[in-house]
This record gives sequence, C-alpha cells and structure tokens, in this order.
Amino acid sequence: MTDIKSLCVFCGAAVGDNPAYAEAARALGHMMGQRGIKLVFGAGHVGMMGIVADAALAAGGDAIGVIPQHLMDRELAHDGLTELHVVESMHVRKQKMFDLADAIAVLPGGFGTLDETFEVITWKQLGLHDKPILLIDTEDYWQPFAELIGNITRSGFARGNHADLFALVKTPEELFDLLETLPESHASADPDKF
Ligand code: AMP
Repeated sequence: MTDIKSLCVFCGAAVGDNPAYAEAARALGHMMGQRGIKLVFGAGHVGMMGIVADAALAAGGDAIGVIPQHLMDRELAHDGLTELHVVESMHVRKQKMFDLADAIAVLPGGFGTLDETFEVITWKQLGLHDKPILLIDTEDYWQPFAELIGNITRSGFARGNHADLFALVKTPEELFDLLETLPESHASADPDKF
C-alpha cells in the first residue's frame, strides 16, 4: 500500500454550474482531513479551492496554501490555514505545490486548473517525477480532456500509454481506493529529482 501523506489539489477558483462539483470538493477535503492526509493547494478562499480547504480543516486536517503575492486579494487568501506560503510568481507556486505533495488530485476547474494539470503531466512524461496524478471525473467533467489526450496519442503526438501518466476516477472514494493499490515507488515525494 502506498503511503501518501500529502495531496496537492488543483481545482477551480469558481464552483461551476453543477452543485456536484462543490460536493466533490467538500467530500475530498473531508476525507483527506479524516485520513490525516495534508492538503496542498493554491490558498484561495474562493470557489472549489475554498470548499476543499474548509472541509479538510473542519475534519481536523492540515491545509497548506501556496499563493503569489499578486493574487492575495483576488483569490482571498485563506486566513485559517495550517501554513501559508506567499511566493513571488505563478511558476514558483506550481513548483512549490508540487514539491510539497506525494500525489496530485484534480477536481473540476478552469484554465488555471488545466495549466497546472498539464504541467505535472508533461513533467511526468519527461521522467522528472513519478507521482500519481488522479483526475476526479465528477459528472463526466473530464471526459473531453480524456478524449483530447486520446486524440493526441492516436495522432502520434504523444508516445506510449497515457494511462501511465494519469488516471480518471469517478469519486474521491475511488481516488483513495486507487492510491492504496499503487506500488510504494509511486508515492515518493522526491524534490531532488528536479
Ligand atoms: P481556474 O481553474 O482558472 O479557476 O484556476 C484555478 C487556480 O489556478 C487559481 O488559483 C489560479 O490562480 C491558478 N492558476 C492559474 N494559472 C496558473 C499558473 N500558470 N500557474 C499556477 N497557478 C495558476
């Protein structure tokens, strides 16, 4: 069984148009808090980000936020976090969030979520890390993403099996079930690899 102690969650700064998205964020945060798995996230107290953090903290968990100074107001940096890292840029934010986490979870979100997700997928494709990347496919939100990746692979622009890079799960429960089946080597937070 893998030993995941911290999970970086990428998700929307909005809640989207379906209450199921917010419910998935709440459930994920709650389960992380219950399991003692630290949340690493973008520190905003808005949208899906705020919901996942509030739920993790309410369940007795730790929440570590990483936010650039220029977004402190726009994303209403959460003032009740276990740790808040204020960094100088979006790039430093992404790197720091990644470094602090043993695995990555992606809830529904927008362009920022996609940017963050593609970055960790491309780093993995280049062999820079081997951390699990799991997309929570609430209400089939990520199906067009999976189709796009399939098309990229079928068209010869990505090699191999994209299942080696990331996986889709339907619910936060499934995410934890899958993490438990992964071999130990997948769970090593090894920032020195970078
Ligand atoms: P969105 O999915 O567009 O609602 O954005 C979700 C989060 O991703 C927000 O906290 C954004 O600030 C963040 N974000 C957007 N672009 C980037 C980026 N290039 N690097 C790091 N975080 C980003």
